[in-house]
Amino acid sequence: HIHVSLDQTHEQQVQQLEEEILQRHQRAREEAEARSMQQHAAARRQTNEDVDEARQWEQAAAEGMTATTSNRDDDDDGDMDDDESSHGDNSVTGVTARQQQEQQQRRQRATATATTRTTPPSTSSTYIPDPSLTTDLEQQLEAMELSHQYKRVAVLERILFWLELLQHAVTIAHFCHVWKLHSLQFTLIDGVLLIHLHSAFSAAMKKIAERRNYLRIARDLDGLFEDANDVDMRKAGDLCCICLGSMTTSGSVKKVGCGHVYHTHCLREVVERARSMETAQCPLCRARVLDGSSPN
Ligand SMILES: [Zn+2]
Ligand SMILES: [Zn+2]
Repeated sequence: HIHVSLDQTHEQQVQQLEEEILQRHQRAREEAEARSMQQHAAARRQTNEDVDEARQWEQAAAEGMTATTSNRDDDDDGDMDDDESSHGDNSVTGVTARQQQEQQQRRQRATATATTRTTPPSTSSTYIPDPSLTTDLEQQLEAMELSHQYKRVAVLERILFWLELLQHAVTIAHFCHVWKLHSLQFTLIDGVLLIHLHSAFSAAMKKIAERRNYLRIARDLDGLFEDANDVDMRKAGDLCCICLGSMTTSGSVKKVGCGHVYHTHCLREVVERARSMETAQCPLCRARVLDGSSPN
């Protein structure tokens, strides 16, 4: 039951994270699309403005032409009509040439606008998801997966402990029952039964002692050692020398007496193997993990 609820909560958390990753990608894609749309619109506006500009230029040119023609009319009344009229003719031909040029340009721009208008913004096909965008979330996911595995192992260990204890209890009860049926007669059978009973009982006691030791070590590790900071982890090359795994992405990390850093669960194995916190030694420098002093 514990296992099932643990799995459910874990799956929910994983789902949340995965959704967040998807959302982030979606948002990035939408942003990219919006940006390209804006660029597209800006480009279109540019061409439109060019057309408008061309029209303005054309208007200005037309005004200039009427101005020069009226000028010529005015000058016709004057004395130096020949010179001015010839000059006016020149300006008129200049303006018409310019107008033609403008018209040509406008036509070119219009076709350009038409082509830009006909090509749709094709961002969805060109959008490439950036993996660095969700690196932190993926690391979080990985760390969560790992911590979930540790939790599962812890639950399994607890179940195993109780099952083993139950097995020993059943064995003891069985021998007691046989003895009761058989009644105490001080024969060889009684001796064999007694030996079996003793071994079953001592095995059960050993299991209980191991379990208590395990729980005590887990509690002591939290209380006795401070959490390693980023500087300590970087100094160790972000590598736990017991499991060769990364320390920044998975689980809690503890700094022992000598200054070396290990995963909490890796350190627990070391202490368990040494049977007690006092005799446990640092795997790297052989100093006592408790205070960093030399064991000899
Ligand atoms: Zn480790
Ligand atoms: Zn050390």
